[in-house]
Amino acid sequence: MTMSCGLPILDHDNDEREYEISDYEGARARWCPGCGDHSILASVQKLLTNEQLVPEQTVFVSGIGCSSRFPHYLKTYGFHGIHGRALPVATGIRLHRPDLTVFVVMGDGDCTSIGAGHWIHALRYNLDIVVMLLDNGIYGLTKNQTSPTTPQGFPTNTQPHGSLLPPLNPLQVALGVTNASFVAQTAEWAPAHLYATLRAAYRHHGLSFVRILQRCPIYASAVYQKAVSDPARIALLVHDDGVVVPDLNKIYTTQLLHDPHDIDAARRLADDADHTNLGVFFLDPSRPCYEETRRVQPRTVNERLALIDAELDRYAV
Ligand code: SF4
Repeated sequence: MTMSCGLPILDHDNDEREYEISDYEGARARWCPGCGDHSILASVQKLLTNEQLVPEQTVFVSGIGCSSRFPHYLKTYGFHGIHGRALPVATGIRLHRPDLTVFVVMGDGDCTSIGAGHWIHALRYNLDIVVMLLDNGIYGLTKNQTSPTTPQGFPTNTQPHGSLLPPLNPLQVALGVTNASFVAQTAEWAPAHLYATLRAAYRHHGLSFVRILQRCPIYASAVYQKAVSDPARIALLVHDDGVVVPDLNKIYTTQLLHDPHDIDAARRLADDADHTNLGVFFLDPSRPCYEETRRVQPRTVNERLALIDAELDRYAV
């Protein structure tokens, strides 16, 4: 680091700082006690520390919801946006500042309802970003309304006799999108698995979509209660190219060898009614990333001016 005109100039090529977890800790988290978001924040801070991500070259983008307070609790750059629009903001950042590492944090209402159109096309564009869906199955910030992932029959303020429709399955949606390149599921109450999944997502080249099952003990404690209290309901998908956490072998004895390059098997596992499957369902790092395919287009000023001239000439008399 050198100084000029009294302002610090950061020289990242020669930056020998070693970051500690305190370098990433922002304001004190104000989520409810017992909220699963606390566990996710801890895993993200651990990831940032272990991967030694430069705080001023890292951006967290969120929309609106309990989980979208995430950027406030990290000492990186952050953009707390508007409902459902985290992905367009992240797309703009990624395209104009490819030197930055971009993470997106969304809730289930944010991502799978108002932001669903952006979600589908972001998966298809496959920018090199990490997208975390913190899925608690409820609108928590606005106090207990049915979201697209609320289980059928679960009572809420908007559907007090129980959610009327079967829930949307975010994994099935993501696996159905052309050019999706990384789809995983993990749970905040299994922090070792959560961390390993986030690390795999970060290291993947392309858009990494991670659905994180997240408890809301205030409004939706029953949503994941059975899976939390009975590990037999959970199956870990294991593969050398996916996520393997030996520390969990004694807790989660149901483990399925799943090749994450097999899209048909991934879709079957996403549809599994018998177990909650955790792991990397699908990955294909060869799928094209929009920011890279876009770069092969003419980019110099003269080339762009020539294209504009040619277009205007079409209208010349
Ligand atoms: Fe977490 Fe639910 Fe509280 Fe929101 S309402 S902070 S999701 S426990």
